[in-house]
Amino acid sequence: MDFNDTPEEAAFRNEARTWLDANARPLAAGERPLSLADDRAEQVAKAQEWQGRKADGRWACITWPTEFGGRDATPIQNVIWKQEESRYAVPPNIFTIGQGMLGPTLMVHGTDEQKQRYLEKMLRGEEIWCQLFSEPSAGSDLAGLRTRATRDGSSGDWILDGQKIWTSGAQYCKWGMIVTRSDPDAAKHAGITYFVVDMQAPGVEIRPIRQINGATNFNEVFFSGVRVPDANRVGAVNDGWRGAITTLMNERASIGAGGAGGPTYEDLLRLAERLELNGAPAIEDSAVRERLADFYTRTKGLQYSGYRTLTAISRGQTPGPESSMSKLIGAAMRQQMAAFALELQAGCGALLDPAWSEDEAAWQTAYLGAPGGRLAGGTDEVMRNIIAERVLGLPPEQRVDKNLAFKDVPTGPQS
Ligand SMILES: Cc1cc2nc3c(=O)[nH]c(=O)nc-3n(C[C@H](O)[C@H](O)[C@H](O)COP(=O)(O)OP(=O)(O)OC[C@H]3O[C@@H](n4cnc5c(N)ncnc54)[C@H](O)[C@@H]3O)c2cc1C
Repeated sequence: MDFNDTPEEAAFRNEARTWLDANARPLAAGERPLSLADDRAEQVAKAQEWQGRKADGRWACITWPTEFGGRDATPIQNVIWKQEESRYAVPPNIFTIGQGMLGPTLMVHGTDEQKQRYLEKMLRGEEIWCQLFSEPSAGSDLAGLRTRATRDGSSGDWILDGQKIWTSGAQYCKWGMIVTRSDPDAAKHAGITYFVVDMQAPGVEIRPIRQINGATNFNEVFFSGVRVPDANRVGAVNDGWRGAITTLMNERASIGAGGAGGPTYEDLLRLAERLELNGAPAIEDSAVRERLADFYTRTKGLQYSGYRTLTAISRGQTPGPESSMSKLIGAAMRQQMAAFALELQAGCGALLDPAWSEDEAAWQTAYLGAPGGRLAGGTDEVMRNIIAERVLGLPPEQRVDKNLAFKDVPTGPQS
């Protein structure tokens, strides 16, 4: 592993810092980065304002090609930029689904008109995008999706009917990218078509889902006779799985790049120093120290795995499957650390007052949000399947429905 910047990387870091110093305030010691709570309209506006400023300084979507407004930055430069930006009190990046996953999909599979129309406004944060993939019966097994796309013979438009779920940010998005079932007679992966859909089009109904932590970060989205022009099709008819894979590869890369947010091991350590247990600082208790040592060991393991990935990226190599391991271990550990923090807070750990600041509610919020982290971007079990097949070389899962026409795949009463 190489922990040091090369001279070029150090120069790039310096350039980023200089711009950030001139445009943002550094976080104070112990100050937490801003996150997206429920007060959306105001926060969305602030995030858009910051994104516009970054675009003016050419610090938005820096890995995008220059022809689309990026600076062709290398993956390691992107890591450096994110490290530096995270040291400043700036609004949360609510654009990652569009800029990190959907924009890159349009660059590969979109038409020139689509790239012209959408990418610049996406980069500037003027139009926000959501990912309409998961359905009530299609999550890990995304190719089981059922939202129908039927061609209207007279106009050539497509008519969408069906339901998506867990759509992050749909309530403030202008555009969504949706995978649909366009040919139920074809095999499962073969009859899928991918579209850009206007989230304000007639027939689109967005219903926020109230989560256990009280926030509404994601939604159910219903489509009833929604008309989509053929010009909004991304890729060929019935070839949408190819585009979906591009989106999912980019999702994995952005999750692998880390930045799960929330309180850290250092925050847990400070909590154990501050709280009392049996008349002494909790950190002096041997059982507490044992738990802390366990979290420290795993935190360091994750940190060094991250460095290994960075070293591979820095040398222009493709990182291995360690991002699946980091996701599996990191998401579980964040949940366990939050549970332990609440234990240390004893009776108060179970309390959460809406009047508390983000800082005061940090561990409660982390505890309630942690189960979602074990599902989003691939569940624990899916990560284990990837590790089993790609790292350990175990035989793949049996996929008995792979070559059946989709309409013949046995299902429950929803078909
Ligand atoms: C915070 C968050 C944000 C999200 N944002 C979006 C979004 O913006 N857009 C979007 O489209 N989706 C989004 N999702 C949905 C996410 O993609 C799905 O939750 C995920 O793909 C899992 O699908 P599922 O919830 O339908 O669970 P299922 O796939 O139904 O899984 C149910 C259980 O079965 C297990 N399981 C499934 N398949 C296997 C297998 N082959 N082997 C072993 N076990 C298996 C799973 O691990 C899980 O425990 C989001 C989810 C979360 C939590």
